[in-house]
Amino acid sequence: MSRSFDDLEPCQALAEMARDFHGRGWMAGTAGNLSARDRADPNSFWITASGQAKGRLDSGDFLRMAVAGDQVLELGRPGIKPSAETSIHRAIYRLFPAVRACLHVHTVDASLAASRNGAHATDLPLPPLEMIKGLGIWEENPRVTLPLFTNWLDVPAIAAEIEARFRAAPPPVPALMIHHHGVTVWGESLQEAYNRVEIVEFLMSYLARRV
Ligand SMILES: [Zn+2]
Repeated sequence: MSRSFDDLEPCQALAEMARDFHGRGWMAGTAGNLSARDRADPNSFWITASGQAKGRLDSGDFLRMAVAGDQVLELGRPGIKPSAETSIHRAIYRLFPAVRACLHVHTVDASLAASRNGAHATDLPLPPLEMIKGLGIWEENPRVTLPLFTNWLDVPAIAAEIEARFRAAPPPVPALMIHHHGVTVWGESLQEAYNRVEIVEFLMSYLARRV
C-alpha cells in the first residue's frame, strides 16, 4: 500500500479511490466520476469511462480528455466513452490551473443536507466544525457556505453555470453541490482531493442528521 495516492499512476489511484468510495455507498453502481490531470500534459485529464461499475474499475477504464475542448485524446482501452459529466470536470480544470484532481460522488447525506434549505437555494451554510480546517478555513467560528447548483438534465448547462459563477466570484471552499445529485470536490493533489471528499461528506452527514 502506498503512503499517498500521488505515489500511484493517476488512473490506478482513481480506480483505488472508486473502490473505496463504492464501499462506503458513495459510488453505487455506475454513479459518480473521478478525474486527474495528466502529469506529462497538464492541458489534459484522465476521467472515468461512462457506465462502468465503480467498485470494479481498473486503470484501463479511463480516457484522456482535453481541458480546452471536448476531444478524446487517449483511450485506456478500446470502445469506452467519457463520463456524461465530463464537462463539469473540464470547467473545474479551466477555472483552477493548480487543481490536479476532481472527484464527484452521489451520496444520500449530501442530497438530504442540501434539500433542507429548499430545492432552489444557491448556498448551503456549513457547520463550524473542527473538520472544516481540512477545506482550508482557519477561522474562529467560520461562516462559510457550499455553492449549490440546479441539477439540469443538460449537464453542460450545469458546467456553464459553475464556470460563470466561479469566474465572477471564487467559491469559498474547494467544493460544490448539485441539488438532488451529489458533491464535486477538487484539490492540488490526488490525496488532497480525496481527503476533502471525506471532509465534505463528514459535514454533509452532520447536517443531514442534525434535527
Ligand atoms: Zn453525478
